[in-house]
Amino acid sequence: MKLDSYKDAGLLVSADLANELAPLERNAPLPAREVVAALSRILAIDPPSVAQLTQAHVPAFAALARRIRAVFVELQRREVDAAATALNALLAAHPAHPHLAKERGVWRLHHHPHDAPLVPMWTAICAAALAEMIGDGEAQRLGTCQRPDCGRVYVDVSKNASRRFCSLTCQNRVKVATFRERAGKRRTARKNR
Ligand SMILES: [Zn+2]
Repeated sequence: MKLDSYKDAGLLVSADLANELAPLERNAPLPAREVVAALSRILAIDPPSVAQLTQAHVPAFAALARRIRAVFVELQRREVDAAATALNALLAAHPAHPHLAKERGVWRLHHHPHDAPLVPMWTAICAAALAEMIGDGEAQRLGTCQRPDCGRVYVDVSKNASRRFCSLTCQNRVKVATFRERAGKRRTARKNR
């Protein structure tokens, strides 16, 4: 499985929203200016979206990010039914409006016309992408990092869906911690002999 930044924008944006706008531990909400900067990076795949973006969109994107994170949390708990119900609610509230648009002489199918309101449009795109993964029997690919206290989510594109961490950094940290723990246990066992 390989992600295509255009075709899989819904998956990539979903993971980015959950990670940037709804991290597990945040004491104070980010200033709206910083959220707009983060959203501009997240939506960079679609320049018309970035052009429309204002601080007024921040609360609705933050709410969407929390709902997307909730879906990943349900999937981490293997509660696929709950994740599907949550996605169905989003899809019912924000249906897609398929629309052909000509870009540099090529017709491409969009979920919405480009002047569609920003947050409902991205809600539909993200919810449809996550729902498609579940519908394809690939729910396990919507993962949450196994390093305690990390909580970042990811889309697993590995061949056998074996990814467990958001990044190499988290993977290595857990490896080192496991190694130290085992070494400690060996030392204690030797002492007690
Ligand atoms: Zn991690």
